[in-house]
Amino acid sequence: MKTPAETRRLLDRLEAQHPDADTELDYRTPFELLVATMLSAQSTDQRVNLVTPALFARYPDARALAGATTAELEVRIHSTGFFRAKSKALVGMAQALMARHGGEVPADMQALTALPGVGRKTANVVLGHALGVPGLPVDRHVLRVSNRLGIAEGDDPEIVEQQLCAALKTSRWTRTSDTLILHGRRICKPRPLCEQCAVVDACDYYQTLQRERDRPSRPIRAARNIRSPRR
Ligand code: SF4
Repeated sequence: MKTPAETRRLLDRLEAQHPDADTELDYRTPFELLVATMLSAQSTDQRVNLVTPALFARYPDARALAGATTAELEVRIHSTGFFRAKSKALVGMAQALMARHGGEVPADMQALTALPGVGRKTANVVLGHALGVPGLPVDRHVLRVSNRLGIAEGDDPEIVEQQLCAALKTSRWTRTSDTLILHGRRICKPRPLCEQCAVVDACDYYQTLQRERDRPSRPIRAARNIRSPRR
């Protein structure tokens, strides 16, 4: 695995390639980002952004959402997928916000992850983007890209989060996640576009692939399995 200094240098270059890296979810308040992030599970940010304007107009805060029925919510969020489970989680989350936090979104990992339907990744998204608390959300893109680059190792999101956080100042955490996510969406896809990658010279996965290609007697497939824990 790369040293903290190597990791930081590599991320400097990746950030230069993606200067616009930020969450692609539309929101105005921490509550809206929490709702949007919960909806984005197994969906795309673009699809979520299509349903949230009407949703937020009808349920602008935790009080309004806590009074919704799951049946009426299901119709509004249907296109994001898993609408029954998401409706239940959203109403439960809003009711818990009302009961425990006066309707406000708490700026605290433990309190956030105690809410129904809120995991560590969602909590980190909200903390880092809407509440000014450093957070490094690890999704499937962050897992794939960081393992390929060799700046993290493993397929446990919490372990990878710890490894990346340990190499970086807290002020870089959220930006790093945004950058790795965008790189994973645009370039380091499951089938990566390495010729467009700003850090191709420093990528463990690419170098392993090249070595394997230079050795025709060994199957390339073996290299393709390296450092790509989830696709
Ligand atoms: S060189 Fe290829 S595999 Fe490595 S990070 Fe860049 S796009 Fe991904």
